[in-house]
Amino acid sequence: MTVLRDARERRVRTGGIELCVAELGDPSAPTVVLIHGYPDSKEVWSEVAPRLAERFHVVLYDVRGHGRSTAPRPLRGGFTLEKLTDDFLAVIDAVSPDRPVHLVGHDWGSVQAWEFVTVRRTEGRVASFTSMSGPSLDHLGLWIDKRLRRPTPRRVAQLVGQGAKSWYVYALHTPRLPELAWRGPLGTHWPRLLERAEKIPRGTYPTASLPRDAAHGAWLYRDNIRPRLRRPRRDAYAHAPVQLITPLDDAFLSETLYDDLDRWVPQLTRRTLPAKHWIPRTRPDRLAAWITEFVTSVEGGRPDASPATGKYADRFGGQLVLVTGAGSGIGRATAFAFAEAGARVVAVDRDAEAAARTAELSRLLGAPRSWAETVDVSDEQAMEKLAAKVAAEYGVVDVLVNNAGIGLGGSFFDTTPEDWKKVLDVNLWGVIHGCRLFGRQMTERGQGGHIVNTASAAAYQPSKALSAYGTSKAAVLMLSECLRAELAGQGIGVSAICPGFVNTNITSTARFAGVDAEEEKRRQKRTARLYGLRNYPPEKVADAILRAVVRNEAVVPVTPEARGARLLSRLAPGALRAIARLEPPL
Ligand code: NAD
Repeated sequence: MTVLRDARERRVRTGGIELCVAELGDPSAPTVVLIHGYPDSKEVWSEVAPRLAERFHVVLYDVRGHGRSTAPRPLRGGFTLEKLTDDFLAVIDAVSPDRPVHLVGHDWGSVQAWEFVTVRRTEGRVASFTSMSGPSLDHLGLWIDKRLRRPTPRRVAQLVGQGAKSWYVYALHTPRLPELAWRGPLGTHWPRLLERAEKIPRGTYPTASLPRDAAHGAWLYRDNIRPRLRRPRRDAYAHAPVQLITPLDDAFLSETLYDDLDRWVPQLTRRTLPAKHWIPRTRPDRLAAWITEFVTSVEGGRPDASPATGKYADRFGGQLVLVTGAGSGIGRATAFAFAEAGARVVAVDRDAEAAARTAELSRLLGAPRSWAETVDVSDEQAMEKLAAKVAAEYGVVDVLVNNAGIGLGGSFFDTTPEDWKKVLDVNLWGVIHGCRLFGRQMTERGQGGHIVNTASAAAYQPSKALSAYGTSKAAVLMLSECLRAELAGQGIGVSAICPGFVNTNITSTARFAGVDAEEEKRRQKRTARLYGLRNYPPEKVADAILRAVVRNEAVVPVTPEARGARLLSRLAPGALRAIARLEPPL
């Protein structure tokens, strides 16, 4: 039983082996070949393949001895990289004889594909390669060699670190035991282990062929690891552009393995994502987006154009980021910063036109895709609809920025219950709805994420004229701290951003309680002028937001006055209380 619905299947014969090959999508479109790892079969791609099939001709095959492909006899010596290259060539001769293919490999599929993209006999047949969690054995051999020959404390630590992560490689070299384990208890418990350790939901994966796949696949290691690590090829240069996707929490591979990769790959695009080893199962959306983007750029003749150029391109490229209040000021600048880093951006604002403009400009700035959504964040039902729509159409949000907010000044006794309600509805309830709905999706996905809440320096700096606004922001700060503690175990970070005076539209839309319309206009103008003179740009706040996500910072005061107030709130709260009695600009 295949879990690859609508796939067309064929058998390809090569060197006494019969390979089971599946195809999806339009055969006249560029061909993307997906190669599975260990202990897997082609079904590991069952979430990625249909997404790619919307644009490409997708080809998957069970590696010899796996899934429904036949196994070599004898097994020993039947899994060498040379034979695996023969299989690959036989498959692409059958499915794409006239046009080079785009390779995608995970784990051992990636190890194999490194061979395909670096040996001479495949030159001209591979258009690009996307590698995840599987290094070239030649590059690995030279990486080890360099560290053994010229050890420094750092290099020794790297060797020891990777050595410890490779325990299973030694285990697989023991005769017969791995086969017994896989055909016995390990095979039975593997789905549960994956569910627990990797947060892979149970379902149609892994398939029933797992024990046999895993037992046969032990020969991938035995036939190749020792010979290649002892005598790595020194000319293993990639003859096609490579996209390297590195999960940052991979239990089996260190990031440092790829430090020297630029030497071997003239056209290299690097991507990282906070995830564990089995990203084809846990991050199909992200992978499909990255592969689509990369293949499209290579097909379009821009192979070395790393699509995103921003400072954090390798961290946020392809991620799904949702920003509320994205139609103006800090929210818009934040959407742009994520767009420049190559993220897919959902720009949410109650102002439809402003949100659409942000989405449009985000695309121009580098977001591979961006969408505008018109929603009032204080409207619970509208937010519920938004969360359902985003999950269904774009995927689970990786970074949520609850930023929409409104200003309100005036004395406590001039602030009416309606004023309170309005400011709390947007500034606090908007954040609560966002955290509750999108945060829940993040936790259910089980693959981490980040929530940023825009609070304000007013969260810890009291002011006689900002009781409602300051209260709403103090609540956002405390909510962020509590949620951060609650979500820490699930790899979801929460940051509260606390800007001081930032030059945005907030000054001209802020309400002032207890004054007539004319006086309100006058105050808005005065505040706008003061903020204009201060002239702190929202782009700097956006930069602080991206940095906060990368570093997983808890509370981030932005602007010198916000940092100063934060310091005073700890060291000399009395001084802050004295300042609180002064008339504030907002
Ligand atoms: P801004 O007015 O330029 O942008 C706010 C955006 O939020 C606007 O596009 C607006 O349409 C949108 N918005 C307002 N209410 C909304 C709602 N209910 N639903 C959806 N969208 C809504 O303001 P800004 O300065 O960029 O403010 C962004 C955030 O930063 C706010 O939470 C604000 O309180 C906070 N902040 C701003 C400053 C500052 O000095 N500008 C300082 C500290 C904190």
